[in-house]
Amino acid sequence: MAKSLIFLADGMADHNLAQLGGKTPLEAASTPAMDSIAANGSCGTFLTLPEGLPTSSDVANMSVLGFYPEKNYPGRGPIEAVSQGVDLAPDDVAWRCNLVTVSPEGVMQDYSAGHIDNAVSRQLIADLQQEFGCSTVSFIPGVSYRNLLVLHGEEFSDKIKYHKPDSSHGIHIDDLQLSPADNSAEAAYTVKFLTALFKRTAEFLASHPLNRGKSSPASHIWPWSPGHKPDLMPFSQRYNGKTGAIISAVDVIKGLGKCAGMDVIEVPGATGYIDTNYAGKAEAAVKALHDHDFVYLHVEAIDECSHEGNLELKLQAIEDFDSKIVAPVLGACKNMAVNFAVLPDHPVPIELRKHTRTPVPVAVMGPAAGIDEIRTYSENLAPDGALGFMKGDQLMKLLLGIK
Ligand SMILES: [Zn+2]
Repeated sequence: MAKSLIFLADGMADHNLAQLGGKTPLEAASTPAMDSIAANGSCGTFLTLPEGLPTSSDVANMSVLGFYPEKNYPGRGPIEAVSQGVDLAPDDVAWRCNLVTVSPEGVMQDYSAGHIDNAVSRQLIADLQQEFGCSTVSFIPGVSYRNLLVLHGEEFSDKIKYHKPDSSHGIHIDDLQLSPADNSAEAAYTVKFLTALFKRTAEFLASHPLNRGKSSPASHIWPWSPGHKPDLMPFSQRYNGKTGAIISAVDVIKGLGKCAGMDVIEVPGATGYIDTNYAGKAEAAVKALHDHDFVYLHVEAIDECSHEGNLELKLQAIEDFDSKIVAPVLGACKNMAVNFAVLPDHPVPIELRKHTRTPVPVAVMGPAAGIDEIRTYSENLAPDGALGFMKGDQLMKLLLGIK
């Protein structure tokens, strides 16, 4: 039975750009390895962000893995809590909590506080916990700007409307306030509580020595995507006893893997940015393929460059993904029966700097896929491929050979 591997290029899909002569960044970049998957396999498109759900990476990656976020999405906070081994009590509401930069005029300037250094963010979160942590509030450090806030107690609700910080660039914070998503007293109380905490923590951060002299200080906390403890069906149970491994630098993707009972493989030096340890990730994926039926290899860097609106860096990140991830893995698996798929989890058009719901291009090569007419891997060509439009668990079942 063939094994299978997904190359997941976070945020890679884009629009045709005038400055690239009407090509997309994926089309303009040199990507011989991804093109070889299209040329020796079949293309199609995949719906990763169904209507009604946040346009976030956790939803999109859940979709790619066939876990139907429409029914099963627990919220990003809880997924990352699982990733970090935080044991949530039944009443706990876990929030993803960014450290962000809001300009002195009150405009969201940077969802990542300048990709804040890990040691600095850990210290700030520790100091926030020292100052504001109590029986109802816990600040928990993650990686860089990606941290957690847990509210403890049945007086709190997760039915809150929020704004994703990376979709809020250039918007005044008065237009980005939390609001209740239902009529419960708990939702109203949670909004009131967090609005007050938002203000008090901003005052604390404004005078913090670690923020002094920074062009992108961590001026505010930004709680979003709350939820309770997740309850996902394990991967093996979902897919006829098959085993799965996941490799990523990002807490939320690792958390998704843990929630789904997959083996989460840690790679030293995996940063989630263009300085990530590509070679280590490629090697770890090949190794994992020897003792798992399925490997999910997620690379974050392209998404980050897209959110920054940096086209040159995006092109570089796409070429790095092709030459340092896809090519070496394909090379190392030459003599194995493997179904390979390559796709992004969602587009991040560089001109919009945020995620869109457009179905993403997919290329699949291996025993599960025939060979169609499409010769290069691209947003514009994939819709004409033999795989057609896919959604739900169609891609996973194709790769795993499950009818
Ligand atoms: Zn993503």
